[in-house]
Amino acid sequence: MSAAFTRRGLVLGAAALGVAGVGPALDEDVVGQPLRPWRRGGLDIHHIATGRGDSTLIIGPDGTSMMIDAGASGTPPPASLDIRPGPERRAGEWIGRYARRHLAATGEPRLDAFLVSHLHPDHLGDVGPDTPPAPNGAYQLTGVSDVAALVPIGLLVDGGYPDYAFPRGVDAPFARNYVAFVRERVRAGGRVERFRVGAADQFAPRRAAAALPDFEIRNLAANGEVWTGRGTETRRLFPPIESLARDDIPDENACSAAIRLRYGAFGYFAAGDLTSNSFDGALPWRDVETPAAQAAGPVDVAVAAHHGMFDATGPDVVRALKPRVWIIQAWHAAHPSPDALERMLSQRLYPGPREVFATGLSPANELAHKWLTDRLAARGGHVVVRVAPGGGSYRVVVTDNHDEADRVFSISDHRRS
Ligand SMILES: [Zn+2]
Repeated sequence: MSAAFTRRGLVLGAAALGVAGVGPALDEDVVGQPLRPWRRGGLDIHHIATGRGDSTLIIGPDGTSMMIDAGASGTPPPASLDIRPGPERRAGEWIGRYARRHLAATGEPRLDAFLVSHLHPDHLGDVGPDTPPAPNGAYQLTGVSDVAALVPIGLLVDGGYPDYAFPRGVDAPFARNYVAFVRERVRAGGRVERFRVGAADQFAPRRAAAALPDFEIRNLAANGEVWTGRGTETRRLFPPIESLARDDIPDENACSAAIRLRYGAFGYFAAGDLTSNSFDGALPWRDVETPAAQAAGPVDVAVAAHHGMFDATGPDVVRALKPRVWIIQAWHAAHPSPDALERMLSQRLYPGPREVFATGLSPANELAHKWLTDRLAARGGHVVVRVAPGGGSYRVVVTDNHDEADRVFSISDHRRS
């Protein structure tokens, strides 16, 4: 499977790029060696590649930690998925172990916050005949609940709490299991909040002795509500749900939570499975991703929503975000769609160099879209964005997900201009 990852191995130290004021700390990742631990002042964003869904671990400059999603799709997983590091553990266990070993550097291996972008199995964990019960029997261990069993979670946030009724609720075993996990957590005194669109304080740094004025996580959108870019003001895109034909009611993807992270001049966009599809103009209000991206403005690094599928990352999303780096959380043969990847690479939508990293490109996808996938900067592995203290430069480090050694596959450096 060695062909599944990039051979670029580009190594350019910050000093070689003439980056002023960065210091030597960024220079220590070496191809073939384990990823160096997080350091105070730096911002690390890990896109964890298990082959079964999405998960992102963020370690802020003060050590405040956050996870977005812990997917575990398919239980048992179909043979078509390339599971990493392997089938001997559940995806949520691999993710929890990953978080535990990388959070050790903060001195406090806990997740200060966990954001569930939306209620789908590849973001919170499926249940099936092979899913074991939690020790107390209140729910089953998968995805988010598997992570919670391994790493304490301070605040759990999702778009549906407390009633999980909008726009019409999700009635499926994985959703019932997640809600049972939430109810048990609340009963035991754990904190759970509904995602507050427009807020910049729900995921505020929690470990700094003083405020971190250069660091912000802004809640951009969820449930059809979008930040306007002014204060904490929002607007609602969806018509009253009761006025809609059944087929027009927004699905769970369209309700995904989106955030923008800023550290100094560095910007990052992530939006779960939010979509920009207006059904060829028939339902313009179903495109939540475009106004969310426009509220975010240009960023350095953007995660392609909905795994780079055809119905997301529309042209106006690309024009608004203009990232230097795209990351596709890919694990299925359908990820990414060629039209979405073409837009990410388009010089007409915005000019300039860029790199597109995929966490796991399947051989079938590569075969179908080779003229585009040949242009990917990475085709498999954990994709780690390491932002230097202050946000003036960053690097993208791809690491090996065949085992838990976190060996570096490739490094590419970016200085903000
Ligand atoms: Zn998804």
